[in-house]
Amino acid sequence: MTKKCFPYVRFSSTRQEDGSTRERQNALIDAFVAKHGLTVDRALEDPATSAYRGLNASKDGVLGGFLNEVRKGEIEKGSYLLIENFDRLSRDKIVRSNKIFTDLLFAGIKVVILDKNKIYDADNLDFGDWITALVEFERANKESERKSDLIGKAWNINRNKMRSGEIVTKKVPKWLKVEDNQFIVDLEQVNRIEQLFKLSLKYGLLEATKQYNQLYFDKLAPHQVQYILGNRKLIGEHQPKKLYWEDGGKRRLKDEGKAIPNYYPVVIEPTLFFKVQKIINDRKPFTGNYNKQQYNIFRGLIYCRWCGGTIRYMNKGERDYFICTNSMGHKCVVPGQQSIRGKKLFSLFFQFTYRLNIQSLIEENKDYSNIKNEMLAIENKKNKLQSSIDDFKSRLKKMVIDNQSIPNSLYEVLQELENDFSALHESSKLLEEKYNQATQSYNALLEVEHIDIESIIYDRSEEAIEKRVAYNLTLKSIFKGIAIDWLSDMLVLEFKDGTVRYLAEGQRVPTDIPSDIDLPDLE
Ligand SMILES: [Zn+2]
Repeated sequence: MTKKCFPYVRFSSTRQEDGSTRERQNALIDAFVAKHGLTVDRALEDPATSAYRGLNASKDGVLGGFLNEVRKGEIEKGSYLLIENFDRLSRDKIVRSNKIFTDLLFAGIKVVILDKNKIYDADNLDFGDWITALVEFERANKESERKSDLIGKAWNINRNKMRSGEIVTKKVPKWLKVEDNQFIVDLEQVNRIEQLFKLSLKYGLLEATKQYNQLYFDKLAPHQVQYILGNRKLIGEHQPKKLYWEDGGKRRLKDEGKAIPNYYPVVIEPTLFFKVQKIINDRKPFTGNYNKQQYNIFRGLIYCRWCGGTIRYMNKGERDYFICTNSMGHKCVVPGQQSIRGKKLFSLFFQFTYRLNIQSLIEENKDYSNIKNEMLAIENKKNKLQSSIDDFKSRLKKMVIDNQSIPNSLYEVLQELENDFSALHESSKLLEEKYNQATQSYNALLEVEHIDIESIIYDRSEEAIEKRVAYNLTLKSIFKGIAIDWLSDMLVLEFKDGTVRYLAEGQRVPTDIPSDIDLPDLE
């Protein structure tokens, strides 16, 4: 019998590496699998995932999911885990890396380090092997730590420069530009913004936006206006941000120290600015602007990958957006307004969902084909038994007609056969239920495939709305959640069965997500 293996590929994906690191890992895997005649049970991959703070081994990582199964004893003993080198497994602190390694070995999993062509196995692991592993883990951790320190230091220097009034980045708000190391104010822009503040003293958000657009032939959306009105850069403040890691490896941006006052030129009178803030805070945002007509097919499913916040869908005629609601109030961990055009998101989603997901659901739901085979086997047995019973009955009938005496034991046999039959019937019913559950998501996808969803997204008729509501319910039966990653223009699809898929434009797996690096100010 061939042994099962689980190839594991991870890349944190900096821009320079793109696909090559993945290809390199896969090439090593293919060679080993072929050489040792292994059966690949399931290919594991953590794309764009850092192992420095253990994200890949956390519950959000694919490796984390696998480790969970290993620890519960769900992975067959003697199976192989194939990795390029120890770095793939972990770049975390040595005590955590060692735990992952020993948990694997303890559960009877053989860990193969492909680039050393070395198989680690609990039964013949010697002291030297162990030390080698520890040394490798320590080196991987120190490497990441050093990289992170360097980038962190560069940003500390930048932040200190900013505090002493030096301009360190050319990324500045749109009413400013940098020339000869000086901020130049665009007066035209500032006048417009000031007008917006004055309108907001008198009118609600929607009306102020409307009046502003009429005045300047502009096309600002209310959420953009709301963002501008709350932007403290207008009163000169700059808030440095720092990236940090939560337990479990999740990245968060948080304020680094106090905001630097008077970093930018003050372009809006602080009294006017704070008066408008008070008006905004006393008011509910977007009241009356959200109605049934805007019912979007992702409602209740979609969220911000960075802050976990809810996403609002805004459809204003030609423009439609999905926006992180936290970012409207400057509360998302990614600074700045985070939104994606509706058309873009829909095309990202529909480009792949049908083909990709139906296939992956079939492939990854391992119960699926097993159950089907079992069902067929039982159906076979049932048919055979049925014909034996029929045969037996007709012989009994014949005996009755021929006036032969029928021994009681024959009735007992018939009774037994019929009991067997109903037992088979019961288990086939159970299997059918299991099968239906396993294929529920799959069937749901098949169902919605027939709906021409793209034609009803922007339709405001009652009928189209009803279809969108129905489509939304179907999506909810398939997906656990859909996260938008603004930084990499990517969607993360989480299926009900735990499968995770990444969708980026033109490809399934993104390649340019910042991972082990500190983020510059994004505005
Ligand atoms: Zn957010």
